[in-house]
Amino acid sequence: MSRGKYNFALAFFYSAVWTLFFSCQKREKTYFEAIAVNDVKLSEPKSGNWRYSHKENVQQFEDFQKSKRIKPVPGKNIIYLQPIGSFNEIQQKEIELTREYIRIYFQLETKVLPALSNTLFPKTVRRISREGQEQVLASYVLDSILMKRKPKEAAIVMGITEKDLFPRPDWNYVFGFASYEKGVGVTSIYRLAEGHLTASNFNESLVRLMKIGSHEIGHMFGISHCLNANCVMNGTNSLTETDDHVARACSLCQMKLNSSIHYDNKKRLLELKNFFEKLHLNTESSLAQQDLNLLQ
Ligand SMILES: [Zn+2]
Ligand SMILES: [Zn+2]
Repeated sequence: MSRGKYNFALAFFYSAVWTLFFSCQKREKTYFEAIAVNDVKLSEPKSGNWRYSHKENVQQFEDFQKSKRIKPVPGKNIIYLQPIGSFNEIQQKEIELTREYIRIYFQLETKVLPALSNTLFPKTVRRISREGQEQVLASYVLDSILMKRKPKEAAIVMGITEKDLFPRPDWNYVFGFASYEKGVGVTSIYRLAEGHLTASNFNESLVRLMKIGSHEIGHMFGISHCLNANCVMNGTNSLTETDDHVARACSLCQMKLNSSIHYDNKKRLLELKNFFEKLHLNTESSLAQQDLNLLQ
């Protein structure tokens, strides 16, 4: 064997050893693969549940990537919350904490705009519900209030009304309503505390607003209803169903969100954990801790 051939054989031998070495190394799990262990399977839907009456298709990650959707870009990447109505001190505190949560959840700057007055609603879009409280037409909030005032740096504007909402004459009420292409949505705080927010029902109402807010904004970023696991993106027909769904987005929904917003997943998770802990939201805090445990 000439010296050149010998060197070639030796190089080939070493490269084969290295290839063998690397292929024996376990590929490190992605963040989403790691936390998928904590996704909780959905139970069979019962009569009255969203999935019982709505047969929706699964939106796979590839479907999400192909869809036309809002992506935050520099100069158009702020989430605005627009209160409409008169809010007392405790309600203002609920909105401010929701702002803090939405900022952490989406890892995007989130601002509360100065509240607008209920006088913006003409008589034609108001009605008295069967239960006796005044309601306003949800689509009017989107088309005639939010679209007209959408700041140019806004990725999303989410209205929060003091008044209960209805979507059309034959429906009793609606929790949230959104136009996904336009990036505007609205939710009402009215039903979340059965019309009366106090210190004793504050956390229950806050978690509902956090869930509905992140769910609706998640839709506006192109995420369809989740059929993958118990998840904040599950469709819901009632407050009981909203309460049964966790605030945590499942691994698939987080993967979709992260592919549009590109944040640091571990930083987000730590911030969520600290937020939940600060407010003594024990269920949410322990779920975040369980995800963190898988990353250490
Ligand atoms: Zn939805
Ligand atoms: Zn999900």
